[in-house]
Amino acid sequence: MTTYEIGIIGAGTMGSAAAFHLAKRGHRVITFEQFQVVHDFGSHSGRTRIIRHAYHESPDYVPLVLRADELWLELEKIHGQTLLIRTGGLDMGPAGCSFVRGALEACKVHHLPYEHLKAGEIMKRWPAFRIPENWEACYNAQAGFLIVDRCIQAHIQGARAKGASVCEGERVLSFEDQGTQVQIRTDRDIYTVGRLIVCAGSWTSRLLKNLGLPLVVRRKTMAWFRPRNPADFVPEKFPIFITESEEGAIYGLPLYDHPGVKMANHYGGIPTHPDQVDRTFQETDVTEVKNFARKYLPGLTEEILEGKICLYTLTPDEHFIIDFYPDKSHIVIAAGFSGHGFKFAPVVGEILADLIIEGKTRYSIGKFRISRFF
Ligand SMILES: Cc1cc2nc3c(=O)[nH]c(=O)nc-3n(C[C@H](O)[C@H](O)[C@H](O)COP(=O)(O)OP(=O)(O)OC[C@H]3O[C@@H](n4cnc5c(N)ncnc54)[C@H](O)[C@@H]3O)c2cc1C
Repeated sequence: MTTYEIGIIGAGTMGSAAAFHLAKRGHRVITFEQFQVVHDFGSHSGRTRIIRHAYHESPDYVPLVLRADELWLELEKIHGQTLLIRTGGLDMGPAGCSFVRGALEACKVHHLPYEHLKAGEIMKRWPAFRIPENWEACYNAQAGFLIVDRCIQAHIQGARAKGASVCEGERVLSFEDQGTQVQIRTDRDIYTVGRLIVCAGSWTSRLLKNLGLPLVVRRKTMAWFRPRNPADFVPEKFPIFITESEEGAIYGLPLYDHPGVKMANHYGGIPTHPDQVDRTFQETDVTEVKNFARKYLPGLTEEILEGKICLYTLTPDEHFIIDFYPDKSHIVIAAGFSGHGFKFAPVVGEILADLIIEGKTRYSIGKFRISRFF
């Protein structure tokens, strides 16, 4: 039986960030990861993640993404490798659509720099797009993408360098709150920790059965399309984008570390169980994305070079859960990142460290309370 100050279940996107921020503050942390650090079975597969600041989902996220952006840059310096590539970002769709309205509102509320562009201006600046005349966009130059494996490895390496233990290939089977400490049972051993953070992604409901959280895990797919002329889709020429279109909430990123342009649909995906996911990619998984590319991105061929499966863990309102376990100030839960959490990882790590050590945080996280579901 080994004793630690703080245990973390999951060393994926959020668990790695929490481990880093706690270890940096001098706390003795142990983190459990059922697979290896960085893998394809949870919510961080697919090489890259968009970071958007003009947050159409709600202006409340803007202070968090601004802080996350700062922290990604700090982490880049510590790690010595580029983590964030800025390309600018377009929230795009038919005039007056909610994505463009929401992005514009977020910019105005938080005084972010933005441009409100009509279809003609969009196609002139980024000739890869051929969009309908009635489309418009909110363009924010701060947006870009993050390199997933480097980001998670940077957090884990930083945590290990400050003394954190990261147990890979060790699955937490259950935990028991014993009042002043928590006993963690894994498939290898039993550990005692003073406090616990649960960052188990799509496996959260399995570990927190008693809470009956309304989380739904969905099977999501991404595809990499071969461009006719790769030079038209490099990060200097092609921004990240997200659209509200007939085909869905189709988004895409420029070429990076792959000969294909990555695109996916934020909507849809069949509900699944994280241990029973159909991991075989079918071209029919991305029919809407293909239709979108055919209509609006003529520089892409219909040839899919690669397709990948990933998991969303959705809350009913698609806002996160970052809160104490009900009535327990020594257990904190971070879950339900609803397909848009990656960009926030370092600030979530900071918030989790605040909550578990100080019992409070300076960030505004009222939207993420568990009590909204009960
Ligand atoms: C296709 C797709 C595209 C996305 N695009 C974007 C984007 O562009 N921008 C953005 O910001 N976000 C995006 N997201 C969302 C973002 O990737 C997720 O919100 C984020 O990765 C969730 O982090 P997490 O820590 O909750 O889950 P994960 O990163 O999956 O981490 C959870 C970890 O816990 C481990 N674990 C679970 N149970 C146990 C256990 N019992 N014992 C030990 N270990 C355990 C898992 O193995 C896993 O490693 C996307 C997600 C998907 C699927």
